[in-house]
Amino acid sequence: MSIIKTTIGLITIISLAACNSKPTPPTVKKDSIIVAAAPKPGDPIKLDSSKRYIYLTWDDSPQPPGTTVSKGVFHQQGVKATFFVVGSNQVGPFKTRVVDSLRNAYPEFLMANHSYSHAKINGKDNYSLFYKRADSAVVDFLKNEKELNVGVKIIRLPGNNSWAGKGKIQGPKSTLEVCKRLDSLGYKIIGWDIEWNQNKTVPKESVDEMVKKVNDKFESGYTFEQNCLVILSHDRLFAKPQYADSLSKFISILKKDPRNVFETLDHYPLVMRK
Ligand SMILES: [Zn+2]
Repeated sequence: MSIIKTTIGLITIISLAACNSKPTPPTVKKDSIIVAAAPKPGDPIKLDSSKRYIYLTWDDSPQPPGTTVSKGVFHQQGVKATFFVVGSNQVGPFKTRVVDSLRNAYPEFLMANHSYSHAKINGKDNYSLFYKRADSAVVDFLKNEKELNVGVKIIRLPGNNSWAGKGKIQGPKSTLEVCKRLDSLGYKIIGWDIEWNQNKTVPKESVDEMVKKVNDKFESGYTFEQNCLVILSHDRLFAKPQYADSLSKFISILKKDPRNVFETLDHYPLVMRK
């Protein structure tokens, strides 16, 4: 009997204690503000198959005033672009600031890797020897990534329209070994579908010729990735006001087509493919 009494008494005490305890109110942070995390280079996005994606990719940065002028035009037009930087071009504090400004401008601009030396050997572009020495070529790209703090594993080979990613390689045989090694290290090598060529130090094609090139290429279907067009040019070609104006007109005309979307190369299908 005494055992039963004790047990009942204990149960009563517990239930009373439960009734008396106040429920813990949920924590509410009155002044908390939800801030979306800033996008980081390389964060994937979903592409819309009804659009035509245009990737403006400018090589050999920093080459002011061309780099700063091109940036200004892109900014004014509200379009994204990718700059392929070369470490050996970054000489002195002004050019360092230009590179810093590209790195810090994401998601508007993306900075990617175009090698440290631009395949220069003894002061001159020497593509055949650079690619023949595959070990030192890979070291050159890694040095550029480290020294310029390039945040993405996207490379353009100097002087060659080569492509590589996930074991698939396309391009001149001379670059094959370097492509294989960079691919095995997880890099994506991006070439180009069309180029705004240079005639000495200025753009070779007129604005109308370039717009036609863009539309013809999309319509032909012969782009490396479907509905995506990589355009190569160089910062230095647009330094003079007359050519900055050409660049601006080229973009304005393309923007009138509602299918066209300007993106950075971290949002290119080959780059986003895991
Ligand atoms: Zn180059």
